[in-house]
Amino acid sequence: MHTRRIPIDPANIDRAVIKEAAALIRAGELVAFPTETVYGLGADALNASAASKIYAAKGRPSDNPLIVHISRFEDLCAVASGEAARAGRLAEVFWPGPLTVIVPGSDKVPRETTGGLKTVAVRMPGHPVALALIEESGCLIAAPSANTSGRPSPTEAAHVAADMDGRIPLILDGGAVGIGIESTILDLTEEIPLILRPGYITKEMLEEALREEVRMDPGLCAAGDKKTTYSECCGGSLHVSAAPGAGTGLRPKAPGMRYRHYAPRAELIVLEGEPGRVAEEINRLVRSRQAEGKRVGVIAADETRSCYRADVVAGAGARAQEEVIARRLYGILREFDDLNVDVIYSESFDTPRMGLAIMNRLLKAAGHRVVHV
Ligand code: AMP
Ligand code: MG
Repeated sequence: MHTRRIPIDPANIDRAVIKEAAALIRAGELVAFPTETVYGLGADALNASAASKIYAAKGRPSDNPLIVHISRFEDLCAVASGEAARAGRLAEVFWPGPLTVIVPGSDKVPRETTGGLKTVAVRMPGHPVALALIEESGCLIAAPSANTSGRPSPTEAAHVAADMDGRIPLILDGGAVGIGIESTILDLTEEIPLILRPGYITKEMLEEALREEVRMDPGLCAAGDKKTTYSECCGGSLHVSAAPGAGTGLRPKAPGMRYRHYAPRAELIVLEGEPGRVAEEINRLVRSRQAEGKRVGVIAADETRSCYRADVVAGAGARAQEEVIARRLYGILREFDDLNVDVIYSESFDTPRMGLAIMNRLLKAAGHRVVHV
């Protein structure tokens, strides 16, 4: 299949392009489009065969449900069943925006979209191209991130093309996205709302809007990855944590948070600790891996970037500008792949607001291999 990539200016949307993309969605085809979080791979959410094409294009496990994207709050009722009071309060504050809610699903939503669950994930994206496409298509659009399953989510159209060329008919190229990591997912089917995936919208923001307690899924830290020893990943004797919670039997509630995900092709290891010691240890590791003939990369904050000597050193952004770190992270992981890096050592980024979301993605990309120095 030939994949066309059409530029579209989010500030001055070409209606003819949107009409063409909307016609493809109505015809049961796939269209990749920008959202404010990452690029999405869209299909008509209520058309079973269209939704199943998403799984085929991504190589996505069929038990990993899709998020349904809407452009009007009323459309929540088309896919949800039952009470939507809490969703309404959240929508007023955060929609359109990077928040997905899980609500009881209606029978109209095919199992290809829900992964066979009785609940459904819904979000109104805050990107003009996404909203225009949903509106013009007259459909609800199921859209996971537009990457091959397991690879880092795409934050630019070039990333989508790298994974989807030849697999889908159209990519709407609206430039680089604003946020760069996927939406916060909040499960409203629990008595106490539960965050299944951290994102730009934090627990504190949700609690303020709902005026009630919100919990973090305790299974989030337990990604089920096997315990790795330091000698396995670095050839030394320092302590490496397993995923906290591993071995406790906890599993993340969102099916998609259970898989190794966001991962570059290179081996990725995160180092935590006092910055000076982290830099010293990373530089030592880089030298020892280079001695084995490996090409080694480092991900560092702008402040400490100049401390490192490696084949490639990527500056993720200043620690004070955590939005920049979030926006750049997936692009950096893809760049390392393009540069044929074999091993990546990364600083950790426990920044005040988005640190939880950034570290969730980085640790998943690393298969939870963390070295404490
Ligand atoms: P993506 O769109 O690729 O960012 O992935 C969507 C995420 O939402 C995955 O982690 C899914 O497992 C999760 N998800 C979608 N629907 C549900 C649901 N009904 N219950 C729990 N998690 C869900
Ligand atoms: Mg995804």
